[in-house]
Amino acid sequence: MEAPQEKSEVVCEVCRVHLSKIAQVKRLTDMELFILNQPKRVININIPLIMDDGSVRMFTSYRVQYNDARGPTKGGLRFSPSVNMEEVKELAFLMALKCALVDLPFGGAKGGIKVDPKELSKSELQRLSRAYMREYSDFLGEHKDIPAPDVNTNAEIMGWMLDEYEKVKGVKAPGVITGKPLSLGGSEGRLYSTSLGGAITLRHYMKIAKRKENGVTVAIQGFGNVGSHLAGFLSEYGYKVVAVSDSKSGIYEPKGLDVKKILSETAKGKKVHESHSGKKVSNEELLELPVDILVPAAVEDVINSKNMKSIKAKVILEMANGPVTVEADEYLEKKGAVVLPDILANSGGVIVSYFEWVQNLSNEHWSEAKVNRKLEEYMRKAFDDMQRVAKEEKVSYRKACYILAVQRILEAEEAHGRIKRKNGKGKK
Ligand code: NAD
Repeated sequence: MEAPQEKSEVVCEVCRVHLSKIAQVKRLTDMELFILNQPKRVININIPLIMDDGSVRMFTSYRVQYNDARGPTKGGLRFSPSVNMEEVKELAFLMALKCALVDLPFGGAKGGIKVDPKELSKSELQRLSRAYMREYSDFLGEHKDIPAPDVNTNAEIMGWMLDEYEKVKGVKAPGVITGKPLSLGGSEGRLYSTSLGGAITLRHYMKIAKRKENGVTVAIQGFGNVGSHLAGFLSEYGYKVVAVSDSKSGIYEPKGLDVKKILSETAKGKKVHESHSGKKVSNEELLELPVDILVPAAVEDVINSKNMKSIKAKVILEMANGPVTVEADEYLEKKGAVVLPDILANSGGVIVSYFEWVQNLSNEHWSEAKVNRKLEEYMRKAFDDMQRVAKEEKVSYRKACYILAVQRILEAEEAHGRIKRKNGKGKK
């Protein structure tokens, strides 16, 4: 097969940077880059909604099915005023890589609605969620494309969407969406799976690095679903969580915070600093604390060219998506810091989503212990694969993850007969 004549349209800056780095190490051909640079299907639907007061508002929505070589596409749905096509394409691409890295039989997708859900009443939110599912129902399916919760969407919304899909199609199809309530076929352990996956990643790294866990100091930025559960797991495993924060501010206690107390106070709706633990620190100060492990678990780009030289932690566990900019990543790598990359560290959520889908297709309900045991198996296997490639190619963990994921996607593309790779060039 000849490489296409027209120049491929590169979808986004971050994808371009990652791909070009892999291309340097693995010498990807134009054809391979062309396949990876293009989303397979991009859908944009404007949805009119009659509001409670009788007025009509139009909501822009998206779904990008980036690559389906390894299986049905899979990825979250976010409701946010900042959702846009470029962001959705980038996140869909990263989902394709993440699913390939942890060896799930899924491709990657992402979707969203440009809306501030706080401006909607509960019934408007439900009608909008149902309208999204109705409009996209022909493109979604248990063996086509499977959404899940993401920013500002949750189990309740997944339940409404499942109901709408089943009404439109006239079938029971619980596997069309994951992150559902338990009563509709949701999985045990899904709520904290991302955090447990992160804890497993860190513990596996500490074992390989032959480091003791007891008393190792940790600072966690972000105390939402991911950060709070992670703080709970790590303190249970003997780590000393010395700092945590939310969007307002953080708290720091070098002797170790009382994580249980903070969890119980924040569960009552308090901000972390209102738990009256430790000394108040800003989010910026938290990142620069003298700790062993730093965990960005809030938003993207928080470790960047402005603060990278002040980061003291030698290990960074990326629980947020994209918390370290490309420039800071290169600096930290040269400095010898170990970054456990987001694509692996926060993949526990999609792994347990996969377990939920398997349970739905086989009409089974697994125990929490089975889900967590299998999560550990998948995370450890992905870590060991990453470690092997990092060693063989003499590259960072992040680059090793991208190399592995890209190779697996391209192998599947070739096995389908969609591309022909030259004498296995670039193959692992
Ligand atoms: P969340 O909304 O439950 O919590 C976010 C936390 O970050 C809150 O404590 C919030 O106060 C804090 N925060 C917000 N803006 C901040 C800022 N500018 N500085 C510091 N803190 C800030 O979200 P979550 O589900 O815990 O997700 C956190 C991160 O993990 C996101 O990047 C998300 O994309 C990523 N992630 C989440 C999952 C999941 O299963 N929830 C899976 C993969 C990746």
